[in-house]
Amino acid sequence: MKHAFLLVLALIVLPHLISCRNEQIEEIENEILALREENVTKAKSEEEVATDGINETEADETEKQTPDLAKSDTEIADSLTQSGEEKQPRKNKPETDWDGILSSEYQLAGNKYYFHTMEWKQVNGSEQSVTITSYIDLTTGETGVICPDPLCQHNDPAVCKYISLNSVTDFMMADANTYLCGYRTNPNSKTKICAFDLRQDNYRVLFTPKQYCPDLLGMENGILWLREYYSKTSQKKTTNYQSVIGVRISDGEIVYTNTPPEDAKAFFFHDGLIYCDNVKSIIAFEPKTGDVTTLLSYAAADQVGAWYYDTLREEFWFSIINKEKKTGRVYRYSVAEGNCEEVPFLCGEVYYFQLTHSRIFYSPYEPLYLGENPSVDYGTWDYTGGKIYAVDRDEPSQTPELIYDAEGKYIICNIGVQTYTVFGDKLYLNHVDIIRQKRKDPNTGEMRNYVYFSLAEKEFKIRIDLSSGDEEEIHFE
Ligand SMILES: [Zn+2]
Repeated sequence: MKHAFLLVLALIVLPHLISCRNEQIEEIENEILALREENVTKAKSEEEVATDGINETEADETEKQTPDLAKSDTEIADSLTQSGEEKQPRKNKPETDWDGILSSEYQLAGNKYYFHTMEWKQVNGSEQSVTITSYIDLTTGETGVICPDPLCQHNDPAVCKYISLNSVTDFMMADANTYLCGYRTNPNSKTKICAFDLRQDNYRVLFTPKQYCPDLLGMENGILWLREYYSKTSQKKTTNYQSVIGVRISDGEIVYTNTPPEDAKAFFFHDGLIYCDNVKSIIAFEPKTGDVTTLLSYAAADQVGAWYYDTLREEFWFSIINKEKKTGRVYRYSVAEGNCEEVPFLCGEVYYFQLTHSRIFYSPYEPLYLGENPSVDYGTWDYTGGKIYAVDRDEPSQTPELIYDAEGKYIICNIGVQTYTVFGDKLYLNHVDIIRQKRKDPNTGEMRNYVYFSLAEKEFKIRIDLSSGDEEEIHFE
């Protein structure tokens, strides 16, 4: 925790950075961007050293922990029948309520849930934030990172090709062994879209862009859909171009190419259509014909929040939130019926939601003041009050059940904090350090109790068993 003070709001660096119109928020974002540009290599101040000790102890204690979960009767029976003396890893109860739901917040492949994690590491003599794709096996509780080399430190880009890839593009899992992402095949080359074979620990180039690294839009029937951008300057006039390209994952052959609708940002690809946001409406785009269908139009003050696509029920759920308040309404679009309707929650607007097959988990806007913040004059808040409610997916207007109350122990929702994920009866929270400290007021010199939050040195998750209430930290390396 060498950076706690300099990175008071460093969690905005999270890949799911959302654009904010609020002036104060923009101010913080600018600070964060400046920090990123400096490559975040800096010296410790005395104050940082003070925080350092506390957090390193915590990290040391938890770093090597393996999931400590109760064994089911069957698992105990299984372990009794094993003749070997070796201690078998404990097994998690398999989750069932997760398959087939796509989201911007994670990738699912095989039995695993994939996402990026961040750590501060020594890289060629300086300390830097390093990200890597990590996973949780939803059937066993096993955790890990995608780099298959057990001896790799995942800290030096010259050695580990799997680190800090999220700065160039998002990633996708084509299947449990094939990882697709933007990758610079040598330090001076352009970023290419590559397919990594995680068993062989090697990659092949799927697509070489004209100029910038493309966005990964989605996959269907062995085709990876990309959006490419490039610009051409002639007679002092620069024209920007975009194209949607379908690349066959097996051999890198380009099978389709077309021009996408202006400003369209894709969510996912399904049944031959790309579902997109074009900054004023949610649309479905047919890349072969160029046809566009509008699902829902929204106001200029709004933007899209969380979204999920349930491939089994063919339902697209998304929220349209106010850019400043970050709270808004949830909609369900039925692909079969072609209709879009508002989800009638009892509380009306929500701050964040999460969809599973049986339930909807949501947090209304119920701001909870946590305390004075030395960096921002509006203080530290959790905009959800730290509360997560659940309601039956088919009866969303019923009185919800309060399933979790962080009570100021964890941050559930703040600016740029990507919040929770639920699979089956497990709730996963991205851990954010809440630091409560007496410090001198920079203006008056008076000692004050400050509360602020920061990304931990090691990013981990808190897994909460919703049936027993048990909480544990889960780590990935
Ligand atoms: Zn590695």
